[in-house]
Amino acid sequence: MINKPFIGFLKPKIEYETAGPTTSAPREISSSGHVVLFAERPPANRDSLVLNTGDKVNTGQKLSVFKDSDHYVIATVTGAISDISSYTGDQGKKFTSITIKSEKKEEVDDEFGGKCKEPAIENAKEFLGCIAGMPELDKLMDPEKPIKTIVVNGMDPDIMVSANQYSVRYDCAGVRKGIEILKKMSGVDNIILIIPPTLKRETQLEKIETQIIDTKYPAASPSLIAKDILKQVVPAGKSFEDVGLFFIGAESVAAIAHAYEKGAVPVKKIVTVIQKDLSRTVVSAVIGTPISNILSAVGVTVNEKDRVVIGGLMTGRAVYSLDYPVQPDTDAVLVQDMEDISDISDNACINCGECIRVCPANVPVNLLVRFLEAGEYEEAAYNYDLYSCIECGLCSYVCTAKIPIFQYIKLAKYEHALILAAEAEAEAAEAGEAENV
Ligand code: SF4
Ligand code: SF4
Repeated sequence: MINKPFIGFLKPKIEYETAGPTTSAPREISSSGHVVLFAERPPANRDSLVLNTGDKVNTGQKLSVFKDSDHYVIATVTGAISDISSYTGDQGKKFTSITIKSEKKEEVDDEFGGKCKEPAIENAKEFLGCIAGMPELDKLMDPEKPIKTIVVNGMDPDIMVSANQYSVRYDCAGVRKGIEILKKMSGVDNIILIIPPTLKRETQLEKIETQIIDTKYPAASPSLIAKDILKQVVPAGKSFEDVGLFFIGAESVAAIAHAYEKGAVPVKKIVTVIQKDLSRTVVSAVIGTPISNILSAVGVTVNEKDRVVIGGLMTGRAVYSLDYPVQPDTDAVLVQDMEDISDISDNACINCGECIRVCPANVPVNLLVRFLEAGEYEEAAYNYDLYSCIECGLCSYVCTAKIPIFQYIKLAKYEHALILAAEAEAEAAEAGEAENV
């Protein structure tokens, strides 16, 4: 039996929570004594790593992790590395976990400020890949896929989450400066800021060109912004870059502005804490801070069997340890009371059609789900529109049989990507053998 996640208590009408003039500023969370950072893959062995326990680091310092790759993390505190180990995350994906014990006296690293006087994609890619929102800035420099429009999303991906909206509300000047920097570094003039109606005043004061978005979920999904606002359809299986679009969050854009302004890599992230009664507190925390620290700072108690979810109400995923750290893309932490967790889910589909009616991507969800449950991922991908899904989670929300369809879809995309990678590897090996004959 799989437990049905957190969404059963939502009201049927699903609107984004929008920030407005009465919204209070994010609460600053003080240091926890240590931070934990994740690097892209597990350590093959101790010799494969550049870092060692005991290494001293400064705040904002770029840390190369592996000897055979240019992957890096950014130290978000000043202190010494106290542990390097393997961490298994969602869907069994493995990372290298790096713990830094912080010291009271902060030293800000000056490598970025020294090397990156002028904004450029090359130096942004080299130092700003781990700022809030983890912008994939290298996509702006791919000659095969030239970008024609940059969309700065001032809305957030899930309904009660407010990281991008808070950046527009409280740091609109930073967002404006970030947009100017993006224009300069990318050469793309067409940059559009997407906002909810409640943030019009802020953007008018900063004279930013905006498009107002519908507040009905999931209108702020990049696929729907492309279709409904930009009138540009992204074919299933294609990326936004394939059609000349690049999406970036307003929080990332403001962080880019501050990086060049201060000559230091920003190390904080805005996180919405959603409590058991659905009240919210928006905080600003150093990336790598354990969520236990944030929950205790805002007075949330987690009892045995309560559920903690990273991400929003519709698309979040459960984590099983309060030591889990805030990552550059952690927009929200939700705590759900054990009483509100609906258990279920090996029920069969009753073909009620609710999922089809609600799906914004017209996926034949009732048919797709049969192949997902059977683990037939290739059939799901090629014949039942797996890749048309924009991952909004609405089908799970309305499912009469309470099947965790959204989780099945995420797993299917992950497993199918592994199948494709294995096939590509086998083909490459076969081609190599043929050449050697
Ligand atoms: S998550 Fe479900 S409702 Fe949303 S796009 Fe995908 S299939 Fe459709
Ligand atoms: S909502 Fe659930 S039960 Fe109804 S058709 Fe879709 S998958 Fe089946």
